[in-house]
Amino acid sequence: MLTTGPRGTKDILPDSSGHWQYVEKIIREVCNNFAYQEIRTPVFEHTELFLRGIGDTTDIVEKEMYTFTDRAKRSITLRPENTASAVRSYLENKLYSGPQPTKLFYIGPMFRYDRPQAGRYRQFHQFGIEAIGAQGPAIDAEVISLAVAFLNKLGLSDLKLLINSVGCPQCRPVYRAKLQEFFQDKRSHLCSDCQSRYDRNPMRILDCKNETCAEYSQGAPHMLDCLCEECDSHFAGLQELLTTAGISFVINPRLVRGLDYYTKTAFEIQYSPLGAQSAVCGGGRYDGLIAECGGQPTPGIGFAIGIERVLLALEKQALLPLINTAIDVFVAPLGTETRAVAFQLLTELRYAGIAADMDFMNRSLKAQMKYANKYPAKFVALIGENELAEQKVMLKNMETGSQELIARTALVPMILEEMEK
Ligand code: AMP
Repeated sequence: MLTTGPRGTKDILPDSSGHWQYVEKIIREVCNNFAYQEIRTPVFEHTELFLRGIGDTTDIVEKEMYTFTDRAKRSITLRPENTASAVRSYLENKLYSGPQPTKLFYIGPMFRYDRPQAGRYRQFHQFGIEAIGAQGPAIDAEVISLAVAFLNKLGLSDLKLLINSVGCPQCRPVYRAKLQEFFQDKRSHLCSDCQSRYDRNPMRILDCKNETCAEYSQGAPHMLDCLCEECDSHFAGLQELLTTAGISFVINPRLVRGLDYYTKTAFEIQYSPLGAQSAVCGGGRYDGLIAECGGQPTPGIGFAIGIERVLLALEKQALLPLINTAIDVFVAPLGTETRAVAFQLLTELRYAGIAADMDFMNRSLKAQMKYANKYPAKFVALIGENELAEQKVMLKNMETGSQELIARTALVPMILEEMEK
């Protein structure tokens, strides 16, 4: 128990944290290009925020939240996603009074009591963006194009962008009625979740992973056939923008997304080599959310990308960069008396901005050289008894194999000079 983490959690170890840093660097670069700024919200919120902001007919709220009562008997939930928190923060901090639209991005851990498997965890990380305040399809195209730019910049190919429109509160009731009519005589064959979805949120039946439900939903009416004029022209506008920008997409009328607050545009990016967990990005418009959370009716759109899945995809396509552990200098003390001076030199090197390390294990000379090669270190600064007495160090260039005896005080300036070459 003490030596095993909770199910569905994973340690990010030093041999892969460099890959995370690489992905995060690309996120920051792309978001900077698109003029999105970072927001960091707490990992826990009042449970009520997610009940309202995600919707109580969703799997997340029904089955997946980590909810607990704190010591003051408040109901608290570890965030299962970041949109509701971003909207809460937008309202609480009056971000609407700044220049509009408000364009935010976030990177951080999310928590869902999901069934763990490859690409599905209970603590996982999302990179997401939110563009709040703009109505027309151009911002939808921008949001989609940011996701595509990010994945392209990582070098991922084989990606498939799926788009759909889930309508709005004007046209959805018509579609809902049509769907209920379609499923009426099939209802008893559906899974128990879908039987309750039939009354509460029949669109979600289309998105059920159960094979029988998928079979029975073949031939179901499409939302796209029921869109009101405004939603229809919004969707047409989006397609035109994407086409003009050279972003290829496929319309998938079954893409309904699990969250109730989505309106109009819904989209997903799939990377099929990931198999069952092929969705790397999911997003859409949420024009109902801000009013639902207590603000003025305000449109918004965003997406979330699962970082673990992106890393799995990068691994599959051999696109992960080599992690650089190289250092400039390895200080090698030989004998106990030399250690204090070695540590002094190490400190001087590091304070001068030079990447340096030393032997802390009392290794033999041979073992220290082998160890220095593993980083690899560009130079080894050897201090034996003689060097100690003469206030010198033996500086070995590990690339050329050449070595020279230099004054101790010359070490830092020499290395700094080398670094400039
Ligand atoms: P969602 O917030 O459900 O729309 O998910 C957005 C993205 O987050 C998905 O496309 C996945 O890449 C990722 N994701 C969602 N749930 C998990 C999970 N349990 N484990 C790992 N990644 C996840």
